[in-house]
Amino acid sequence: MSHVFTTDIEFAKRSDALDELARFKQQFHFPKKNGKDVIYFCGNSLGLQPVSVEPAIQTELNTWKEEAIGGFTKGKNPWLYYQEYLKPSLAKIVGCKEDEVTVMNTLTVNLHLLMLSFYRPTDTRFKIMMEAGAFPSDQYAVETLVRHFGLDPATAIIEIKPKDGEKILHTEDIIAAIELHGESLAMVMLGGINYYTGQLFDMQRITEAAHDVNAIAGFDLAHVAGNVPLHLHDWGVDFAVWCSYKYLNGGPGAVGGVYVNEYFASDVRTPRLGGWWGNDEKTRFKMEKGFIPKPNAGGWNISTAQVLNTVSLKAALEMFEEAGIEKLRAKSIQLTAYLEYLLHQLPNLKFEIITPVDAGSRGAQLSLYFKERGKEIHDKMIESGIIVDYREPGVIRVAPAPLYCSFGDVYAFYEILKNHF
Ligand SMILES: *Cc1c(COP(=O)(O)O)cnc(C)c1O
Repeated sequence: MSHVFTTDIEFAKRSDALDELARFKQQFHFPKKNGKDVIYFCGNSLGLQPVSVEPAIQTELNTWKEEAIGGFTKGKNPWLYYQEYLKPSLAKIVGCKEDEVTVMNTLTVNLHLLMLSFYRPTDTRFKIMMEAGAFPSDQYAVETLVRHFGLDPATAIIEIKPKDGEKILHTEDIIAAIELHGESLAMVMLGGINYYTGQLFDMQRITEAAHDVNAIAGFDLAHVAGNVPLHLHDWGVDFAVWCSYKYLNGGPGAVGGVYVNEYFASDVRTPRLGGWWGNDEKTRFKMEKGFIPKPNAGGWNISTAQVLNTVSLKAALEMFEEAGIEKLRAKSIQLTAYLEYLLHQLPNLKFEIITPVDAGSRGAQLSLYFKERGKEIHDKMIESGIIVDYREPGVIRVAPAPLYCSFGDVYAFYEILKNHF
């Protein structure tokens, strides 16, 4: 594959024939439109169902049926250790040690739990920095957190905005804002990729800047996990949370992911809200007084492993193991660049790509702002069996996920724009 694209369909066919990851497309179920599989560019909202999920769920249902309580220690995958099974794959995907990662609850719940551990406001250091226009759930979480501490969101929350007339934030401006608030800043909490613009932040430099003023750096990786490889441990990120139903294909409401840097994870004194599942295994079943957390990210587990919403993620992660996150990213960069190239061959369309041009500042998604006919274009795509997402006032988000999207899929999207608009 190369960056030299052309507008003929032969290019798409050739690229698909040369793509060593193309075989994964057959390992997913696609919704149908007029009897045909749709083209699916909505994996940034809900990933497709891997074919392996149904038998994997059946396995756990059988264990439950046949072993009942015995399933915790017997069966193919004893439930007592269910969370452990996902750690090796997730550690590779987010770039950390296995002891720094766990699965539990869902994203916003985990964001609350981790912020409660890491946000320790004092009279002088109490501000949380986030991006303006963050995903609503993140805004609600931060707003209610500061109120929980009796603080006023108007003074405790610093929202960073792009410069006037711009859509994306410059790393230099984020760092300057961190320096400006300095000693009053308790925490920086950004979405690793902004869900709307598709901008990928430089988490390493932002973490360094936060640490330079002794603030905590945490990230919501909902749009990053399974999309862009990360190095959370090496970057020194303090904590991160993500959901598993977007690029990770874990299914609706799948168990969420959590990363806690080992510096805090191994320290049983790190504050947290506890429950029996996070307690040291040696004493968990003694039912004694006194919470002793596991000396790893599992020390944040509160309740018993949620086997039935973890099994689908477990099955989905096997494909990431097989494909490799770095190879997926290499294909993803090509696919998205190809989409961008084809869009630029449509001079009659009035639109703006609000996602950064630089491949290092974006993941799979491109957000297209159509100044006119946005809704009409969206509806035509859906009618043609191409699933994309629409947000007012005219933004179509297109996310070619490399596990199940092809160059031919991207070409089909372009062809509809070319022939009908
Ligand atoms: C998808 C998404 C969520 C959803 O949170 P849930 O708790 O899983 O419903 C939250 N934040 C961001 C940034 C997201 O992209």
